[in-house]
Amino acid sequence: MEYLIRYYEKNDKGEWKEFEPPKEDIETKCSICGSKAFKDPYGNGHCDNCGWIFEKDEVELEKSRGISFPMIATPTTAREQYKKGLPFKATFDEFLNGLYFYSEMLFEYNNEIYEVFLRANKNSKNNEDSDIVFCSKEFQQEYKSRKEFENKANINGVLLKDMWEKIEKPSFMY
Ligand SMILES: [Zn+2]
Repeated sequence: MEYLIRYYEKNDKGEWKEFEPPKEDIETKCSICGSKAFKDPYGNGHCDNCGWIFEKDEVELEKSRGISFPMIATPTTAREQYKKGLPFKATFDEFLNGLYFYSEMLFEYNNEIYEVFLRANKNSKNNEDSDIVFCSKEFQQEYKSRKEFENKANINGVLLKDMWEKIEKPSFMY
């Protein structure tokens, strides 16, 4: 299993160093499928039954940002997908919520990687009014707002929002 959460601590020289993630050996109940799952002392963990990876603030994060971390899909979306036997996948809307949380996102389509990231412009004071850049090896598109991205971002003329079901592995950039 691949983990996106990494742990850092400062060493004697004041440099940040990655360290081994703490053991996930505290029993808990998976918030998605209800199976027995395991978490570490910080509240981060995973479920072997459904594959959900969670962190301690997932209820709060869904409420405040409309996402989860590192899965992106909210627990509400994930529970619906689990019930239907579908793999976990962020909706188009959740993917964009993730963009404003993390600034850099990826997905795959037809074995190609596509990037979506925020780029500050001279007027932007925060993430919400940054430009959105959408690019692949073949193209680069730039949008001024979330609304414009939602209505215009496309691959070969097909709107991203209309082809989202064909999009694979939407994720935070790693
Ligand atoms: Zn589970």
